[in-house]
Amino acid sequence: MTITAPFDNSYAALPEGFFSRINPTPVANPRLLAFNESLASSLGLEFATKDDLAFVLGGNELPVGADPLAQLYAGHQFGSYNPQLGDGRAILLGEVVDRTGKRRDIQLKGSGRTPYSRGGDGRAWLGPVLREYVVSEAMHALGIPTTRALAAVATGEDVYRETALPGAVLTRVASSHLRVGTFQVYAHRGEIENLRLLTQYAIERHYPDADGPMGLLRAVCDRQADLIASWMSVGFIHGVMNTDNCAISGETIDYGPCAFMDAFHVNRVFSSIDRQGRYAFSNQPQIAVWNMAQLATALLPLLENSDAALAEATQIVHAMSDQIETAWRTRFAAKIGITSPTKQDRALIDDLLVLMQKDGADFTNSFRALSGDDAVAQFTDRVGFAAWREKWRARLAAEDDPEAVMNAANPVIIPRNHRIEEMIQAAVAGDMAPFNRLMDALATPFTATDPELHRPPSQDEIVPATFCGT
Ligand code: AMP
Ligand code: MG
Repeated sequence: MTITAPFDNSYAALPEGFFSRINPTPVANPRLLAFNESLASSLGLEFATKDDLAFVLGGNELPVGADPLAQLYAGHQFGSYNPQLGDGRAILLGEVVDRTGKRRDIQLKGSGRTPYSRGGDGRAWLGPVLREYVVSEAMHALGIPTTRALAAVATGEDVYRETALPGAVLTRVASSHLRVGTFQVYAHRGEIENLRLLTQYAIERHYPDADGPMGLLRAVCDRQADLIASWMSVGFIHGVMNTDNCAISGETIDYGPCAFMDAFHVNRVFSSIDRQGRYAFSNQPQIAVWNMAQLATALLPLLENSDAALAEATQIVHAMSDQIETAWRTRFAAKIGITSPTKQDRALIDDLLVLMQKDGADFTNSFRALSGDDAVAQFTDRVGFAAWREKWRARLAAEDDPEAVMNAANPVIIPRNHRIEEMIQAAVAGDMAPFNRLMDALATPFTATDPELHRPPSQDEIVPATFCGT
């Protein structure tokens, strides 16, 4: 009873200091709750039955070719440095080179204790596992770089989070799990040879054209700038942009207390632990820059020891604010039908956002409604909206097919927080129908046709806060 995948493990070939070899801890009664067939087939995964999948992806048996390990990393959490984090509840089974030639990590999350678990139990409960499954796959369908979800397996065991909750394991697929925090751990310890090895490894794996550590820094900053703009264009708030949750690949990683906004507000925060609003919606650009400054600092020992090198690294990080602004403007301009935005178009976008915020308008539906006949219905300040629309229409005269541009930039559906909570409650009660319905609709976010799921929450449906994924 096993499954096979074309494993080709490169991380396991790095020196011992990079990880600890550890097997997943078996679970009482693994049961497959969700499985991503198309992702499995792109990975070349083969299996006989769903029970085999549950057994292996629950951690009870190793697939042939796996070389399980927990990765070491550190990171800044809410701005303070934690010298040792690491995979405390995740185990990398290994890497597969997929059908398109891309190397992907296959990782079990919630698979038991590791040497990095500190006080934790190494487990996850069903709620965060399904939240990550739904949101990461929704992000993928929206065209935003992200880790993927391959499977969710119920363990048949309880985990204790103030109360007993059903346990689950997520199988996560990522182009790698290298984080800013992976670099920080060696830099802070002064293990320069490991830092050098890691940098070489990251360049070969992700940015083969990058010229040394400076090239790597530049490439990662480019990807992060685009990523943050793409999050904001769909109203996504990551919620815990710690440096250990910032992937070198430029994929969105670690869907803990993340959420999509319903009513627009620039300072929206969902995470119950983010009391200062460090990771609020509109703070995300400056936090991304801060995170890249930490990467630059970590890479410093590898850079040429000269004022010129220091100035170049500083310039790369500082340039990010403008890069994010440009990417933001391009994406938000497309949301109002404009293809090549000028600086003046920024004011037009801002004016609309001000109206939306003042009215508490729904972010997703207001933008989508712009290409329909009844956009005004999204706004209570109808006069204000009508005045904006005049200016906007005049500007659109210079565009070829604004409607097509808008329909490709404005999703009909996002994974709304109240639907996620509802889906989790149903799943805890044994009903996966809401999960399947959400997954169906979110697979085609620009053309979805499940109006009940497009609707913003009513007053009593609003879920104002999210909790960490532990
Ligand atoms: P996160 O906030 O989810 O990015 O996790 C921060 C750190 O805490 C990482 O090192 C995790 O591996 C660790 N961690 C989170 N939850 C658990 C758990 N239930 N058991 C052990 N370690 C955990
Ligand atoms: Mg994390």
